[in-house]
Amino acid sequence: MVFKLLRKHMKTILVTGGSGFIGSHTCLCLLKNKYKIIVVDSNVNSSKLSLKMIKKIFDQNKEVMEEIIFHQGDIRDEKFLKKVFLKSLNNGYQIDGVIHFAGLKSVEESIKYPLMYWDNNVSGTLTLIKVMELFNCETIVFSSSATVYGSSEISPLKESFEIKPLNPYGQTKATIEYILDGIFRSSKSNLKVANLRYFNPIGAHCSGLMGEEPLNKPNNLFPYICLVAAGKYKKLNIYGNDWPTFDGTGVRDYIHVMDLAEAHFSTLKFLLSNKAQLINLNIGTGIGTSVLDLINKFSVVNDIIIPFEIVDRRPGDVASLVANNQKAISILDWKPQRDLNNMCADGWNWQKRNPNGY
Ligand code: NAD
Ligand code: UDP
Repeated sequence: MVFKLLRKHMKTILVTGGSGFIGSHTCLCLLKNKYKIIVVDSNVNSSKLSLKMIKKIFDQNKEVMEEIIFHQGDIRDEKFLKKVFLKSLNNGYQIDGVIHFAGLKSVEESIKYPLMYWDNNVSGTLTLIKVMELFNCETIVFSSSATVYGSSEISPLKESFEIKPLNPYGQTKATIEYILDGIFRSSKSNLKVANLRYFNPIGAHCSGLMGEEPLNKPNNLFPYICLVAAGKYKKLNIYGNDWPTFDGTGVRDYIHVMDLAEAHFSTLKFLLSNKAQLINLNIGTGIGTSVLDLINKFSVVNDIIIPFEIVDRRPGDVASLVANNQKAISILDWKPQRDLNNMCADGWNWQKRNPNGY
């Protein structure tokens, strides 16, 4: 009864790419905070089962299950997107805001197939913004990336630093930021925009029911470590130990995926209760961890040895990417709560319980 009363005041959020790794954890967080959510995903890089797991985590609570609606489809399909907005309106729920995760995310793939990345990421976003405008939806939280900074010599990185992406993936993210900025600056706009520049999300929900499921051989370090731990690969290749870092291996700012999910909730809350504006926020912990650090931490926390070999540097890699997260901490009612121990334990728990993914 109380829940029904609350529902009347709940905001409705469209989550594009909500079946994916970060999207599914964010959906969980939004539901916990009593938002109604509509997920749109083509499942080009995810399983529909991730959303089923959310329902399991909420113990099949019927009222919560009513608050999550899934539409399978591609955001480049304008007709489909219009239908999603219209259906929600006809059901009495105007979409108040969008969290836009849908996109392709492999740097390597983007170098091989740049057109596919421009089309999916940029055309998809343009279609989404057009439909949002048609339905007077003026709030968007966009999944940007630390890759937009390229290879900065200075760490930690501030939001005001130059945007200079080094690969097509990063260029699509920077272009979307640029487009949003242009629309925001137009005189007619009441747009509320947050470009969240994520650093390196790893780990999984502590239940072990949800996590990252790379459909192909993973490119990223953490899922690869998990697969070596699981015995699927014999060893990890470390891409260079001659980087200008404290131990010669690449340094990154790893953030627990649930901390990242919570940052989205806080960002939405902030945008929805403030005037039209555009903000760029780094979402990281501000702590730099090297490849060797991460391997050691994973081994100690989970009591598993990770065999590795030093190989050549990976093309397109940079030495160090660490966030200055002070702006996000001061603006949002948010700060990272989980440390590297939690990231390693939760990530391995998910891998161990789900050796074949969802
Ligand atoms: P993910 O691949 O798990 O999730 C993206 C989701 O979008 C997938 O479910 C995919 O099926 C869907 N999708 C892709 N193109 C679509 C389209 N045209 N229409 C509808 N759905 C589509 O990736 P993730 O790690 O959850 O990343 C989410 C977002 O955050 C991406 O935009 C990614 O670029 C960005 N990001 C990720 C990282 C990271 O390290 N994981 C870092 C920085 C930024
Ligand atoms: N890395 C590595 N072996 C791997 C994957 C990654 O040594 O199999 C290194 C990579 O060179 C970088 C760090 O781990 O220094 C993080 O790489 P990841 O791809 O996870 O993140 P990104 O480079 O996109 O920030």
